Amino acid sequence: MGLVALGTLCPLFLHSLLAAGPMEVERTVYLMGTRATLVVTAPDRVVALRQLDRMVRSLEQTEATLSTWRQSTELGRLNRQPVGEPFEVGSDVCALWPILIRWHEETSGAFDPAVGALIEAWGLREGGRRPSATELTAARAVSGLRHFAFDSGSGACRVTRLGEVTLDAGAFGKGEALRRLQADRQNGLPWRVDLGGQVAVSVATRRPGGWPAAIAHPVRRGESVIDIVLDEGSLATSGASERAFSVDGVRIAHILDPRTGEALYRRESATVWHQDPLVADLLSTALYVMGPEAGVHFAESHGLAALFLAPSTEGTSNGAAARATAPFARRFPEATGQVFDQIETSVQRGPS
Ligand code: ADP
Ligand code: MG
Repeated sequence: MGLVALGTLCPLFLHSLLAAGPMEVERTVYLMGTRATLVVTAPDRVVALRQLDRMVRSLEQTEATLSTWRQSTELGRLNRQPVGEPFEVGSDVCALWPILIRWHEETSGAFDPAVGALIEAWGLREGGRRPSATELTAARAVSGLRHFAFDSGSGACRVTRLGEVTLDAGAFGKGEALRRLQADRQNGLPWRVDLGGQVAVSVATRRPGGWPAAIAHPVRRGESVIDIVLDEGSLATSGASERAFSVDGVRIAHILDPRTGEALYRRESATVWHQDPLVADLLSTALYVMGPEAGVHFAESHGLAALFLAPSTEGTSNGAAARATAPFARRFPEATGQVFDQIETSVQRGPS
C-alpha cells in the first residue's frame, strides 16, 4: 500500500524524500469563518512553507470570490445585482453553477444554495429567531435556485436574479476551495487540509499510507469518535453541534430544509466521503436535511459513501451510534467496530 502510493511520485522527488527523510510542516490560519489546518509532507521546511503559502493564498482567493458574508466578492455582488439585469460571472463560477443546479435537482431540493432570504428570516447569522408566518411566506417566495437564470451560451456566462433571491455559499464554499487545491498540480507535495468539518487530501501526490483523519461526535464536535485513514478525496460532516441555537425553547441548527422553509435540528450528523470535495460538502448538508432514513436511502441509491452518527449511551464506548452505507463501510473498514457494536450497512439491513 505504502509502496504503491510512493510509486506515484516522480523518481527525483522520491529520491530526495527518502534521502532527507520526509517531514511534516503544519500551518493554521483563520479563514472562511473557520480555523483551517494545513499539513504538507516535504523533504525540507523551506519547500513545505512555500507550498503552504501557495495553498493559503488559494483558499483566500476562493473566499474572495465566493464568500456571501462579504459584499465585495463576486457572489456578494451577484446578490446585489438589480433584479432582471444579467450579471457576468467569471469562469470559475460559470463552471460551478451547473454543478450546483445538478445536485440541487438530484437531492430534490434538500441542497439549495439560494436560501439567503430564509437564512435572514431565521436570523441564522445572528443567533436565531422565529420568523412570523408572513415573514416566512415572503422568504420562501424568493428562495430557491429556480429564481436565478443561468446562461452560458455564446462565449459569455451570465446569471440573472429573477426576484429578490440571494445565494448562500455556506454549504459549498469550503468544498469548492478544497476542490481548487486538489486541481492545482503545482501543489505537488502530499497535503491534508482540515477546514473544520471538512478534510481533504492531495490526490496528485499521495502520502504513503494515507492521512489520519477523525470523525467527530455528532453533538460534541471536539470529541473524535472514529479514526480513519484518508488516502484520497474528501470527508465532510454536517451537524448541529457547533452552531445550534434555542428559539422560543426550540433548538435549531444553522441548516434549514429549503423544501419547507423550516430551520432544522437533528441530533444526527451526516458525513459524506467523495472524491470531489465540492460534492462531499454539499451532500453532507443535503443528507443532514434528509435525515438518517431518507439520507441513507438516497446515498445507497447513488452509490455514495455516507455515515450518520447519533449520540447514544447504550452499549457504546464512545457515545455514538452509527449507520453507514455499504460504500462507506468498504472504503473505511477501520471504522467498523469503533462505533457501538457495529456499523449497520444496508448489506445487513436493506435500505429503509
Ligand atoms: P458548515 O457550516 O459546518 O460547513 P454545512 O456545510 O452543512 O456546514 O453548511 C451549512 C451552511 O449552508 C449554513 O450555515 C447556511 O449558510 C447554508 N445552508 C443552510 N441550509 C442549507 C441547505 N439546505 N442547502 C444549502 N445551503 C444551506
Ligand atoms: Mg456542506
